[in-house]
Amino acid sequence: MVQEYEVIVVGGGPAGLSAGIFIARQKTSCLLISKDLGGQMNLIPKLENYPGMMMSSGPLLAKTLESQFLAFNGEMIYDTVTMIEEAEEGMKVKTNRSEYITKAIVLAPGKVPNSLGVENESTLSNKGVHYCTKCDAPFYQGRVTATVGVGGYLLESGILLSRMASKVYLIYKGGTLGGDKEMIASIEKKENVQLVPQSSVKSISGTNNLQSVTVVDNSGKETTLQVDGLFIEMGSKINLDFVKHLVKINSKGEIEISEGGKTSHPAIFAAGDATSIPYKQIVAACAGGANAGLSAFNYIERLKGRPGIRADWKKTIGDTVFHY
Ligand SMILES: Cc1cc2nc3c(=O)[nH]c(=O)nc-3n(C[C@H](O)[C@H](O)[C@H](O)COP(=O)(O)OP(=O)(O)OC[C@H]3O[C@@H](n4cnc5c(N)ncnc54)[C@H](O)[C@@H]3O)c2cc1C
Repeated sequence: MVQEYEVIVVGGGPAGLSAGIFIARQKTSCLLISKDLGGQMNLIPKLENYPGMMMSSGPLLAKTLESQFLAFNGEMIYDTVTMIEEAEEGMKVKTNRSEYITKAIVLAPGKVPNSLGVENESTLSNKGVHYCTKCDAPFYQGRVTATVGVGGYLLESGILLSRMASKVYLIYKGGTLGGDKEMIASIEKKENVQLVPQSSVKSISGTNNLQSVTVVDNSGKETTLQVDGLFIEMGSKINLDFVKHLVKINSKGEIEISEGGKTSHPAIFAAGDATSIPYKQIVAACAGGANAGLSAFNYIERLKGRPGIRADWKKTIGDTVFHY
């Protein structure tokens, strides 16, 4: 028999786990389906910008969020969602191993950063090799760094690093920098940024930590740069093949959401890095998850003919207006 849940959450990163906590805590049956626990948080050994914690780690936060979700009787399975379809009873969620029926869905499938594809890259990941400049640049105060990437990602990476590092090599394939003119002008004014045009990274090396990056230019000339950190900003992959026929996707390949994590489909809500929010960070994913989770809960309540919860109560007593 096909199992039924009031809400199914897709994704076990901070957005999905937070959505699950807020749904399950309202005593609404909730299944969270994810390929793994934690998502991109598994790439963060040192987490220092999650409010309320001086220093933590991505995997530790993932485990804590999972425990909270399970404590509220949420259910979790490790599987991959391959297709979501409309069904008579609501929505059908197909996975590699099973099928489920649900009334509402929270999408939180996140994204995966693109890699450079050089030898040693995964071994030196978080040991000098990084994929999120806005997350990890502050660890490189006064140190020598390089950044390689494309378009706006590269420009932003260079600007952020130049505020922290003593030196930034900006490595790019083209002859001139492409992208936002204001950002390019800002980069060109920075004294600690050295442009490395018409070049790509050939190899990286280091024993315990990254020590050097060898670049090759269009003429085949190789140069080895001694660096403490290499930031790879080649964009990310968001895979929404399983749901793109049901929700509006924007030009960046993200799920378009409005207030409360609402998508273009009334029974589907979304949160986190796979959505159109501007700042892709853990605290933003958690907040989005809470919003989408409560919106899904409200949707279920209204299906049952109940009023749901409101965030905009207003009461006037005498001259005083109370908002709560
Ligand atoms: C190297 C790196 C360092 C970072 N450092 C920081 C930092 O210091 N501070 C900070 O605030 N942010 C940091 N970030 C960003 C932060 O990790 C993300 O903003 C956050 O993880 C996004 O959460 P999410 O839940 O939307 O997506 P994700 O974390 O990407 O999680 C998505 C989840 O969905 C699952 N999934 C995807 N598709 C399916 C499917 N079809 N079926 C089932 N499951 C699926 C994935 O397996 C994964 O578990 C960093 C990111 C990277 C890459």
